Amino acid sequence: MAIDTTKFKKLLEKELKTLEEELESVGQRSPSNPNDWEAKPNKLNADSADNMEVAESIDEFEDNAGILRQLEIQYNEVKHALAKIDLGTYGICENNGHEIELARLEASPSAKNCIKHMK
Ligand SMILES: [Zn+2]
Repeated sequence: MAIDTTKFKKLLEKELKTLEEELESVGQRSPSNPNDWEAKPNKLNADSADNMEVAESIDEFEDNAGILRQLEIQYNEVKHALAKIDLGTYGICENNGHEIELARLEASPSAKNCIKHMK
């Protein structure tokens, strides 16, 4: 049974766009590598900020960095899945090379493994 990659490509491209928007809300593309994202530096005015504000700002930066890492992982998985569509290997379990269940792809279009081999 052939997989309708056109449909999944659309889903993945939509997901990629959503992830890009989320990434932009907590981070920015690295100036040296557009595929790399870094957490936004905080815009705190060091002259007028008190210790409390500095501490809050650092917390926020660390939260952003954590969210960013998770988003970046998802973003790379979606990109990976899109690359597999181009290569013609989309929907194939990377663990044992057989077809990934359609229901699994429907639930998670960037899935790399079949239900048996998913983490
Ligand atoms: Zn498998």
